[in-house]
Amino acid sequence: MKISVPREEIERIMKQYECSEARAIKSYLDAQELSKTVMEEELSRQLGARKDQKERTITVYTPQQIKEHLDRYVISQEEYKKRLSIAASFHFAIIKHLEEEIEDTGVKRFRKKNTLISGPSGSGKTYCAEVLGDLLEIPTLIIDATDYTEAGYVGKSADDMIRELIDVAPGADRQEQADFISRYGGIIFVDEIDKKAKDRQLIGHDISREGFQRAVLKLVERKYVSIDNPMSPASQFREAMDQKRGSAQRKRENMISTENILFIVGGSFQRPHNDLESIVNKRLKHAGGRIREDGSFMVMGFGAGKPKNKISAIRNRYKEANADDYIRFGLIPELVGRIPIRSYVNLLSKNDLIRIMRDTEDSIIHQYTMEFKAFGIDLLIEDEAIEYIAELAENKKTGARALVSVWENILTDFQYELPGSNFKDLAVTKELCRAPKDALLKMLKRSPFADYAANFKQEYGIRLVLDTDVQDYIERYAAKHELQVSEALKRLLQGASALNYMNITDKFKITLEMLENEKYFDNIFAKWHRERSKELGQENREQEQAEQGGKGNQEDKDKDKAQGKKG
Ligand code: ADP
Repeated sequence: MKISVPREEIERIMKQYECSEARAIKSYLDAQELSKTVMEEELSRQLGARKDQKERTITVYTPQQIKEHLDRYVISQEEYKKRLSIAASFHFAIIKHLEEEIEDTGVKRFRKKNTLISGPSGSGKTYCAEVLGDLLEIPTLIIDATDYTEAGYVGKSADDMIRELIDVAPGADRQEQADFISRYGGIIFVDEIDKKAKDRQLIGHDISREGFQRAVLKLVERKYVSIDNPMSPASQFREAMDQKRGSAQRKRENMISTENILFIVGGSFQRPHNDLESIVNKRLKHAGGRIREDGSFMVMGFGAGKPKNKISAIRNRYKEANADDYIRFGLIPELVGRIPIRSYVNLLSKNDLIRIMRDTEDSIIHQYTMEFKAFGIDLLIEDEAIEYIAELAENKKTGARALVSVWENILTDFQYELPGSNFKDLAVTKELCRAPKDALLKMLKRSPFADYAANFKQEYGIRLVLDTDVQDYIERYAAKHELQVSEALKRLLQGASALNYMNITDKFKITLEMLENEKYFDNIFAKWHRERSKELGQENREQEQAEQGGKGNQEDKDKDKAQGKKG
């Protein structure tokens, strides 16, 4: 892009500010950009909103419609989906209602259905909010509380969340984007709020954690936040203009109120000591009976004691958490009080993981099928394979998050080798998932040994020789340890990369001794290194001596010279 700048203007700036041409041009362009924004703002202040801005019709969804949409993407977590659907439906319906209400109803504020959600990681807390934002076409921001601090500390402040929400809203400039949110609302999901809980065992960090919660509390209620970062040049310029004009009205225009923003605050509420489930357990154990949230009295019977295992504890106890439990965990009472809706998610079971892979609209299986289809390859994934992967993912204890990495590990080599090959289909069996590399090499009719040697040559320039006795040993090792042959090769020869540092550039024969002794390559490298250091030491000493000898000779010569002169 070519930009023309008026010569005389640049020369004037250079002269008056005694600066270089490059700096003058940059500052000139920055100032122009700024004056455009300020001019638009002034025009709309005097003339009202621009008429070329498209009006947006807001669809009001009923709670059931929202829930139906969530069901297409999010498996299980029925309670949370229902609570969230009600919160979102009512929140945005009221915003629309209040905006359209011609008669003054006298209602200036409404009690927001902010939601607190707890439960194990990777089980859909954030994902639900993302799906919700997509449906409603409302600016939605998902942030990690640990990235923010209260104002005054180094790092992003809680107010920056609001500015980041503005960033994702539609509009030609920041003011328009902020107006969009003021008019139609927005959603902010504050994840990992539990990491900002007061923790009696960590005294030093608590003041800033509590400070962050207080900052969020203000936002959750109603706060006016500057739409630009107060430290940015644009807002400092505006500030100066406002002071000149003495206009309080303008100040409001650069601010956004948080009242139409729906907050969802979530976390796993787990930690090594005194986590939410143990807090709930303790309370239930000590109480002979307790008041339900609806006011009725419940007598505690079986099941209130220590649960049989960790998993059943996680399944059961999040449900029971009440406001006091969250406060005991370390949330400040005022914040808990301002978030009237509390919900939970369950730990995902193997069955849930299978359904997530298979039955959701954007399921991972659909996605991989489409990706391979793009290269003309039909992917046929067997049920047994899906079950096997669900088991692997379940064992990783990171919820559905593990699914993608498990699949990627299995399919990576196929994604590299098959596009552009003659293969037109790929049957993903349980056996393939168990030993993907071996299955691929079998398909390609390549021996795992030749493949390993070829990769080694590519990486280090050394040609490994693997004779049949060595190959037999590796195959037996793989069978014994339930490994793929390629994995056994990797494991048994992991030290062989040391060869690259030992000046070996040609071929190298692998022997049984090298495989049997785990430390073989470490040892030969250590020996080589010792000898090399000795040699180097010897060389250095010789060099030093040579230098000193030279110096000595020179000194002798100098002495001779001096004596000669005297003589
Ligand atoms: P968290 O509960 O820690 O917020 P996420 O909602 O971010 O976890 O889940 C991580 C990913 O796992 C999501 O992006 C989604 O792809 C998948 N996922 C998690 N739970 C579910 C679920 N119940 N149904 C469908 N997909 C899920």
